Amino acid sequence: MSFDTIAVVDWSAAKRAPARPSKDAIWVGITRAGYDEEPVYHRNRIDAEAWLAEFIATERAAGRRLLVGFDFPFGYPAGFARLVTGSDDPLTLWDWFADQIEDTPEGENNRFAVAERLNRLAPGPGPFWGKPNPDGWPDLPYRKEGIRFAPFAERRACDHAAKAASSCFQMNYPPTVGGQVMMGLPMLSRLRRLPGVAAWPFQPWQDAPVVLAEIWPGLIEPAVKAASAKGTIRDREQVRLLARALAALPLDGLIKMMADHSAEAKEEGWILGAGHNDTLIRHATPVLAPPPLRNDCFALPAGVDWTPVDEALALLRDRLASVTGTETIATADALGRILAADVTAPRSNPPLPNTAVDGYGFAGPLSEGDHVIPLTPGRAAAGLAQTGTVPPGHAIRILTGASLPAGVDTVILQEDVTLGEGAIACRGPLKRGANTRRAGEDVEQGATVLPKGRVLGAPDLALLSAVGVDRVMLRKPLRVAVISTGDELVDPGSPAQPGQIYDANRPMLLALLRRFGAIPVDMGRATDDRAALRARLDAAADMADAVLTSGGASAGDEDHVSALLTEAGAMTLWRIAMKPGRPLALGLWQGKPVFGLPGNPVAALVCALIFARPALAQLAGAPWPEPQGFDVPAAFEKRKKPGRREYLRARMRDGRAEVFASEGSGRISGLSWAEGLVELGDDACHIRPGDPVRFLPYASFGL
Ligand code: AMP
Ligand code: MG
Repeated sequence: MSFDTIAVVDWSAAKRAPARPSKDAIWVGITRAGYDEEPVYHRNRIDAEAWLAEFIATERAAGRRLLVGFDFPFGYPAGFARLVTGSDDPLTLWDWFADQIEDTPEGENNRFAVAERLNRLAPGPGPFWGKPNPDGWPDLPYRKEGIRFAPFAERRACDHAAKAASSCFQMNYPPTVGGQVMMGLPMLSRLRRLPGVAAWPFQPWQDAPVVLAEIWPGLIEPAVKAASAKGTIRDREQVRLLARALAALPLDGLIKMMADHSAEAKEEGWILGAGHNDTLIRHATPVLAPPPLRNDCFALPAGVDWTPVDEALALLRDRLASVTGTETIATADALGRILAADVTAPRSNPPLPNTAVDGYGFAGPLSEGDHVIPLTPGRAAAGLAQTGTVPPGHAIRILTGASLPAGVDTVILQEDVTLGEGAIACRGPLKRGANTRRAGEDVEQGATVLPKGRVLGAPDLALLSAVGVDRVMLRKPLRVAVISTGDELVDPGSPAQPGQIYDANRPMLLALLRRFGAIPVDMGRATDDRAALRARLDAAADMADAVLTSGGASAGDEDHVSALLTEAGAMTLWRIAMKPGRPLALGLWQGKPVFGLPGNPVAALVCALIFARPALAQLAGAPWPEPQGFDVPAAFEKRKKPGRREYLRARMRDGRAEVFASEGSGRISGLSWAEGLVELGDDACHIRPGDPVRFLPYASFGL
């Protein structure tokens, strides 16, 4: 059985770490469903343990199998456990430490005193040594000289196999593994008791939903070194890379690795992957992968002059794929976000059979005719666990939402009952099960409640919450840069020279992106200057996943967007059979898709809604959205050229679609006047008042 989620924990014996992510904190690297998540950090062990317990519960509830690696020894050299507990069972030793170790949120703990206590059990000085000052803890030697390791070795079999220089008896001076083990085993002793958890390799782990295992980032040191540029936090890189490596191993590779240990492992524990350094390093190193988008993803079929809208859309739909990573956040914060994986129900809704009405419950059915049914004392109300049994032939008062007590499968409405002293009178017939809800009639436990790619709305948050899903794995939001181009543009608020106009497209496009659920990145304006535009495109590609430009997209002298994309070798001018909309320039800039929209605000909006919106949705990990329009009678007359699609600014009045008086593509007032678009099919040529036309409200584009 494979693991869906891998977490790697970098434990620490230190005092509380600063609030800012730092090297002394406890770091957790997470790879879920093959995606790296941002490593999580905790300032102290108590927070980290609470987080881990919750994390284990969440992954289990979501049906994901989990491997959690910890970077400290799970056991001591063979013979040590018996000296302390009288047993060779390492888990008994875990419990012993859980009893002895004291810890606080500030990180103050008694590990040196516990080491002293253990030294008193062993013959000769040691085995534990090392302390922060030479005068404290008299039974804990300051230096290693003269220490006796008996009746056990200084190092475990796996420490030799992994060529680890550290010893779990060293309590001070890096690497202070001794302190980490002592401060880690009590946590393991508690975590392993959570439902579904097994400690590898001590317990049967092959089918356990959650496996705790010892790991050691030293195994992938060269990969960590290569990835740790100046300024990165090493511990953070270690856990991230090791989680990635374990997740990237082929399944049988990981299982073989887990099975590969010597006999001593049953008592001493084992470092997962010891001796397999090269394999782990290979999987920790990000492979040089081709970009998710092919360089020719915007190529059009040769020889076609004007591409029909549907054909252009089909091409985009075919070639664009999701480019965003994932993150897991609280369901309550997930409005408008995109699910990165199917969500299954950890619990049925309703969890138990219950009543849909206020009334009286009993064992049905009720035959035709009049009945008097004695009442059993008590009341079943929502939220109260029902314990007692209702005797046959009796009824109980029951309120909407209450789970059915034993002996009840049918409820009669209180309005259909006459209430007497200790009994009710009512009239049959009533079918068995009347007015009740079956357990799971809404959602069965284990059913897929929402699919990968779903854009979460408020009702979805209700559904997820109802089945107990409090955290969801989402796509990170798509970041989209917006650049306006043109020498004539100034920003509103600045003085405009006579030949200048205000930049209308940028605020519009930034606002559209927000509505689409993307993160807009305002890259300002570029003049009609190739070097300036190039620099701005570079910066945009650096900061965002995709770029929208407006203006300069045709083939004229000052059309620098199309010129630069052509120069980059990955651009196509899409001459689409559509009005409004001159050519669209689509291309890749440093691997990032660029949508070169026309400069005219009307054309820019229509092209953004018809082309950029679905393309961006797919890049963000959502399914291709189809705007839902409806056919309504036209309130206008219009002649058009067949063979091209037209979009008119329109609104609904008195059940008919009106269109804006002018079709001029510079008429921004018409965009604002409109409440949607009328879409005239490619082959339409003469539309008369009353003819059906397709109206697409702005809302159908998510606006
Ligand atoms: P272009 O596509 O650059 O040839 O521009 C076509 C028309 O749209 C010209 O009249 C431009 O002045 C106008 N235009 C371009 N960008 C904008 C903008 N950001 N805001 C308003 N009008 C624009
Ligand atoms: Mg221009």
